[in-house]
Amino acid sequence: MEKIKMQTPIVEMDGDEMTRVLWKMIKEELLLPFVELKTEYYDLGLKHRDDTEDHVTVAAAEAAKKYGVAVKCATITPNAARVKEYGLKGMWKSPNGTIRAILDGTVFRAPIIVKGIEPYVKTWKKPITIARHAYGDVYKAAEMKIPGPGTCELVYTDEKGKEARELIQKFQSPGILQGMHNLNKSIESFARCCFNYALDIKQDLWFASKDTISKQYDHTFKDIFQEIYETEYETRFKEAGITYFYTLIDDAVARVIKSEGGYIWACKNYDGDVMSDMVATAFGSLAMMTSVLVSPDGKYEYEAAHGTVQRHYYKYLEGESTSTNSVATIFAWSGALRKRGELDGNQALMEFADKLERATISVIEDGVMTKDLALITTIPNPHVAESGEFIRAIRAKLEI
Ligand code: NAP
Ligand code: MG
Repeated sequence: MEKIKMQTPIVEMDGDEMTRVLWKMIKEELLLPFVELKTEYYDLGLKHRDDTEDHVTVAAAEAAKKYGVAVKCATITPNAARVKEYGLKGMWKSPNGTIRAILDGTVFRAPIIVKGIEPYVKTWKKPITIARHAYGDVYKAAEMKIPGPGTCELVYTDEKGKEARELIQKFQSPGILQGMHNLNKSIESFARCCFNYALDIKQDLWFASKDTISKQYDHTFKDIFQEIYETEYETRFKEAGITYFYTLIDDAVARVIKSEGGYIWACKNYDGDVMSDMVATAFGSLAMMTSVLVSPDGKYEYEAAHGTVQRHYYKYLEGESTSTNSVATIFAWSGALRKRGELDGNQALMEFADKLERATISVIEDGVMTKDLALITTIPNPHVAESGEFIRAIRAKLEI
């Protein structure tokens, strides 16, 4: 069989622990036998990040900007224990945070739907994609404990020293206080990422906040979305046959539960944090989610939503058998290959990406799956596959 050719490289960001082990298996079993894989390789494994004082992460993100499509393996975000474990020179920042800051992107997460792994919500038939704003609000807030009676105000001093004030509360007794912010620029790029992504995957876009209560803060989000929609996207949405829909967050939650799925739900930072965990769990598992970072100028970085599965890696190092789910990592690769194919007009590459995803799903639907899925499947007597065995079962399907 002739291998599929590629024109432009994909930026490949290797990672850590069990997912690094899966990464190698996926390349050897599912990609290299079928595709003349062209990648620009960056080793984001913790050791190499430390050796390069994390310059490799920045270089990888710059390469993603240059080529437009990247695929990333899960990586360790070092904490004190990791600094000791790896003898690190520094407690390097989260690679995802570094890459997100350079690409200025929004993360879109959607469940991978498989027969036999049924959503807890009976009406859900199609994936619900969550788009989470990744800047500001409560994640960049200032907080205070108020010890007793006193006055709290918001004060804005402009560059000329002129003040504007807003009373928050005249405290009569102890309490708590929080001040948070966002930037119009960040909200605008979040909105554009969402509109572009909706056009890209041809699905409706929902956005919700609490603008009836928060008449300045949340209302600004609503207004920015509306204005960008009307001036830049309305015509294109009509042509694509999709809609943009704004509602209150509590109304959105009620509608989501009653819906069939099949749309993008854009969420403010906190809502996205909470709702993405709810949606992921309700659809089955974090190992059955696709995740892609999209920049406002249309650069894509595909990844798995879960971590490096440390506990399984230590078992693997002891020579014990593991049953680690590689589906999200496989779909990170298929997502990147499909997007590369789309940008390069490479039909064969796009078809291969589809075939790889179908083969992966059909192995599970045949009852062969990793332990995490075997525990929740409705398929009777599933076969619990070891990590490599699951990947080889997919290869067997690709070879037919
Ligand atoms: P984790 O790697 O997501 O794993 C937590 C637990 O979830 C695992 O122990 C396992 O449960 C289950 N699990 C997750 N993914 C699985 C898979 N593919 N197949 C089967 N089971 C899976 O989170 P963590 O252990 O808290 O974090 C480990 C490292 O990952 C940390 O150093 C963290 O910094 C990093 N991290 C990276 C990313 C990223 O790069 N995107 C995201 C999150 C965390 P059982 O042990 O019960 O089987
Ligand atoms: Mg969370």
